[in-house]
Amino acid sequence: MNGFLPLNRDEASRRGWNELDIVLVTGDAYVDHPAFGAAVIGRVLERQGYRIGIIAMPDWRDPLSVRIFGRPRLFFGVTSGNVDSLLARYTAFKKVRNDDPYAPGGLGGAKPERAVIVYCNLIKAAYKDVPIVLGGIEASMRRMAHYDFIDDTLRRTILEDTRADILAYGMAEAAVMEIADRLASGKTLEGIPGTVVMARQKPPGALVLPAQEDVMASQDSFLEFSRLCHLNQDKVLAQPCGKRFLVQHPLPEPSPERLEETYTLPYSYAPHPAYREPIPAYEMIKDSITAHRGCVSGCSFCSVALHQGRRIVARAADAVMDEIEHRALLRKRALSLTDIGGPSANMYGFDCQKGWLCQRQSCTFPKLCPNLVVKTGPWIDLLDSAARIKGVKRVTIGSGVRYDLILRDSESRDVMRGLCERHISGQLKIAPEHTEPEVLAAMRKTPAAELKDFVSLFREAAARSGRRLYLLPYLMSCHPGCTLAHMQAMRQEVMRIFGFIPQQVQAFIPLPMTLSSVIYHTGVDPLTMARLSVERNTRRRQRQHQVFFIDKRP
Ligand code: SF4
Repeated sequence: MNGFLPLNRDEASRRGWNELDIVLVTGDAYVDHPAFGAAVIGRVLERQGYRIGIIAMPDWRDPLSVRIFGRPRLFFGVTSGNVDSLLARYTAFKKVRNDDPYAPGGLGGAKPERAVIVYCNLIKAAYKDVPIVLGGIEASMRRMAHYDFIDDTLRRTILEDTRADILAYGMAEAAVMEIADRLASGKTLEGIPGTVVMARQKPPGALVLPAQEDVMASQDSFLEFSRLCHLNQDKVLAQPCGKRFLVQHPLPEPSPERLEETYTLPYSYAPHPAYREPIPAYEMIKDSITAHRGCVSGCSFCSVALHQGRRIVARAADAVMDEIEHRALLRKRALSLTDIGGPSANMYGFDCQKGWLCQRQSCTFPKLCPNLVVKTGPWIDLLDSAARIKGVKRVTIGSGVRYDLILRDSESRDVMRGLCERHISGQLKIAPEHTEPEVLAAMRKTPAAELKDFVSLFREAAARSGRRLYLLPYLMSCHPGCTLAHMQAMRQEVMRIFGFIPQQVQAFIPLPMTLSSVIYHTGVDPLTMARLSVERNTRRRQRQHQVFFIDKRP
């Protein structure tokens, strides 16, 4: 069915729905676009025949805000939205943010801190016995015990804090469909791939993790728990929690066909018309196309591989072209596509000769795995084909590329030529993050020596294209292993390589469940047991960060 999913009872009634099967509660505005989680899950469930309503940005101070549609027949789905609500609220130096790019007008304040817990409390107070299903990045990355940067302490699984019935982690379309079908047919929620539940018993064959109580009380136990978690995401994990077990079932086998189902749903590709002001996050991504999921890198500070998986699952080129044609028709004027790709655009077309079955945490660190098939040609072909579609004005890469992997492509010169001649609009973003070897090793990133090679390759291709093109490096301060001296050395090195001091420096924030968050909290890398220096003092963190801002001279 076309048209937006209902945001209120009137809209539901217009569809002839007096009762809903499922109500989704989200901390973001409802944008009917596949880059917005609530829209994807709503559309997936709608296609299954369920009647769906969305409560977007409920006023958490008003208990009636979750009663808009009344009691749903099957369950409430709860998400903070596309971003963890604490990250949305605080900067890396724990200052309160006043903006929220996922709200109309970009105005902050519509989303509570720990939104998932707050929304669940409201629902529990209103409808004690309606099942609650958690999803989205906040629930996903807090599914087990984790370090919380804002409270500067360990927290238990969010399932216990919310008393929800089940948590669907990662890109949860398949899990949520299964949950809905099971609840509709009165079956239990046990054993669903890609979910976490509290169970009375440990499933047979599950890998038992250190008990949550021990993890919260002892650093050694937390390190062992983190090590086991990171190395065994492909297994059923069971962690004793009081008298019960927290059970995590591995993600379902991803497939291009299943991915395709998500991107062929009848989205309107626009914010719900109830919003009068623009939504900044939508304005930024509205003309981007998802061509794949997953990231082979496993950088220690990033949650993408933990959330989407390391395996690259790509859509068929024809299907991507069909979506672009459809969107060009909807737009009714020339479309300028700002991205075609995934978390790292140029990983489209990558493959693993061993079928992605191995225990490594990264296909690129400490050395590129010989089984990784690095092919950037299919992605460039995709960009070129998209640019030829009627109604498409141009195709550029707004998000940037993994430069070290372009270097590893045997056709790297042709790739750079194609990008510089046809798909870069002025600047190409890259994210070396740092230049100093100790810090890069702690981040599990490529050595900076390769950065110089890439800059040469880019300059050569840019000169040949006859266009004025620049590289824009993104860097990070305050990561574990990084000191003030490392930041000063990076500043000099960056000046030497690029010839200017960039302002795109992000201060490290320890994201829940990432390796870097474990290192930040303990000072120890759980995979190597190496000790690292960690700067936790806010003033000294600011000094590190300011190295790139206080004085623009070299
Ligand atoms: S075998 Fe190599 S390419 Fe394949 S998943 Fe493992 S590390 Fe990655």
